[in-house]
Amino acid sequence: MIQLQATEMFTTKKLNLTSNLCEVCQAKGIKQRTMIFQGEEVCPKCYLQKDHDRLFEECNQYYKGEEERKRKAYFHNHSLISDPTIMRAAFENFIPECAEERTNKEQAQLHAQNFIKNLKYTVVASGDAGRGKSHLMHAIAEEVNENGKQTVLFISESVLFKKLKSTFSKKDISEDDYLQKIIDADVVIFDDFGSTLGDYRDINLKALEFHNAQGEGDITSLQRATKYMNDTYMTIFDGRQGKANGIATNLVGAAISYCYDQRITSRILGCKAAMTFKNTPDKRKKPLPF
Ligand SMILES: [Zn+2]
Repeated sequence: MIQLQATEMFTTKKLNLTSNLCEVCQAKGIKQRTMIFQGEEVCPKCYLQKDHDRLFEECNQYYKGEEERKRKAYFHNHSLISDPTIMRAAFENFIPECAEERTNKEQAQLHAQNFIKNLKYTVVASGDAGRGKSHLMHAIAEEVNENGKQTVLFISESVLFKKLKSTFSKKDISEDDYLQKIIDADVVIFDDFGSTLGDYRDINLKALEFHNAQGEGDITSLQRATKYMNDTYMTIFDGRQGKANGIATNLVGAAISYCYDQRITSRILGCKAAMTFKNTPDKRKKPLPF
């Protein structure tokens, strides 16, 4: 404020100029006499320039802050979450109790750092329910949102399809609004992939039997993804090509192959990084750490 008052004084009062020339201005080829202001010799031109630069920088900082707030809010406003307790799942409150959990936590932290460094690939976390997959996958999303520069989303499959179906009867929001947000985000974690197909244990068992019998036997009772689900995932995965993705699923590879369109299967099974949750004790038998 004091500086703004000074600016006002410079522009409204008669300047008390000295006979000295400002060296800074002189170096730029400008002849500007200095003045006495508040007992000090200053160059009015340089002084105003400094004032201008400071205001310009303050405005820039303000807009940068606004953008940062908007980026972080994207995660909270557009993520689709089925279980609200997952929102508190972070690396700090994932306490490993066996070797596999330790490895998976380290892996997940590495993927989070990679995504923050703008590396772009798909990581798949697979294994039985209640093994901490969702916890670690959410922790990746949280870590990138807090410490990265990327826009992040966490999408639960069951909520996604519920939301998409609800748009059929709505005029103010369309399916594309949801899909476009998912496509636009820099990092997206898909949780519970395959959960809307029905009981995953049943699916996995039948898929495994079929797989072990080398294609002999009955697999037809297994619920396959509908054309609508395949098309939706294709739209999303096509749109997200070359971006950072995380997929958490209870399904084994054989079930994914059987239940989904080959184009989706190849995206998931052909991923560069995988974390498996096989030997981890079922976390749901214990109270959650948060
Ligand atoms: Zn000057």
